[in-house]
Amino acid sequence: MKITREFIEAIPKTDLHVHLDGSLRLSTILELADQQDVELPGNPQSEDELARAINMGAICEDLTDYLKAFDVTLSVLQTEEALYRAAFELGEDAALENVKYMEVRYSPLLHTREGLSYPVIVEAVGEGLREAKRQYGLMSGQIICGIRHMTPEASLRMAELCVAFKHKGVVGFDLAGAEANNPAKDYREAFYLVRNNNVNLTIHAGEAYGPESIHQAIHMGGAHRIGHGTRLREDGDLLNYVNDTRIPLEVCLTSNVQTRACKSFESHPLPFYMSYGLRCTINTDNRLVTDTTVSEELARAVQYYDLNIGDLRKLMIDGFKSSFLPYRKKRSVTARACAEFDAVVREFEERRGESAVTDPQVAQELAFQKATADSRTPLAYAVGPEDRGYPLLRRRPYERDAAEATESSVTEEDSSESTEQVSQAE
Ligand SMILES: [Zn+2]
Repeated sequence: MKITREFIEAIPKTDLHVHLDGSLRLSTILELADQQDVELPGNPQSEDELARAINMGAICEDLTDYLKAFDVTLSVLQTEEALYRAAFELGEDAALENVKYMEVRYSPLLHTREGLSYPVIVEAVGEGLREAKRQYGLMSGQIICGIRHMTPEASLRMAELCVAFKHKGVVGFDLAGAEANNPAKDYREAFYLVRNNNVNLTIHAGEAYGPESIHQAIHMGGAHRIGHGTRLREDGDLLNYVNDTRIPLEVCLTSNVQTRACKSFESHPLPFYMSYGLRCTINTDNRLVTDTTVSEELARAVQYYDLNIGDLRKLMIDGFKSSFLPYRKKRSVTARACAEFDAVVREFEERRGESAVTDPQVAQELAFQKATADSRTPLAYAVGPEDRGYPLLRRRPYERDAAEATESSVTEEDSSESTEQVSQAE
């Protein structure tokens, strides 16, 4: 079965890297400008004019050019009501394409022009997200951003805010903004404060600058996740470190092409990263400015990299695994998502009267997953050995069962050897 857009929209998803101020609806910007009596830069009068004014979905000169769109969106995001509405509508748009968990990032530094205080900004966004949860069941958290092209002191204020709102809707800290000429090491104080208070940290790196930036983010910043990591492939040693320590990458395909972090979809490193075993998540970055959705990003990945159902399931699991949810919550949420994913596959198989999986090895893998789901609790199913079965291990189910029966706590490599021995014995 061809993986259709309808199928992609039906499966559960995450979005761990989405900017609030880059993800408004066109209609909302125009309405807010009207209500607030704000003249938008370029004075656009229609959604088409506005779309052109912000380079919506268009290839930009570079990241700095791309960031100009935010002058427009930020001009209407200076009141509590506007922040509440932007957060709620973002949650609504995500929930309607079956995003189950979302981490929304923004910098309160950019919302104070009309006198809002930092705590009021965080509370307004939090209230919008809570309303999305009430209406749609969408789980979410906020990530507070420091800004590279502002002073390190400003980012330190954001780190303090982040710590103050830990367990009050804020789940992490990020460093965003113009990456080139603004190295992460300059913001060490902010990173230290955040980590010293056991708050999660992600840093935009390897998007508009080389792997040195990722190196700094990890070793000077202490990042638990990397935003983009597009240029990680230029440093094999660092790539192995990221892989070995399972640091997740927040991949934003379309945004990377739009900002010229990557020349084209064809040349994007995602398929290499996936085949190498890196923990990759699929994200929108900016729903409005990049003119995308999570479904659109997944559809492009399927189109350009020939992903199969097993690959999509792996990406979904890695999305939940990489979230800043507490571990025990993450386990149950991931288990539910896996069960839902498999139910969607079964539904599509039945509806079409054909096998949803044309690759027999994928079918075997899915058969194994389903068998495991039936015979064990859903929890054990989702949280078995790291990355079990993905990328597809190309083993037949009974072989894996035999391997598991003889090897209870062995490494993945040991387990493979054991499987081979069993195969040979047969
Ligand atoms: Zn971003």
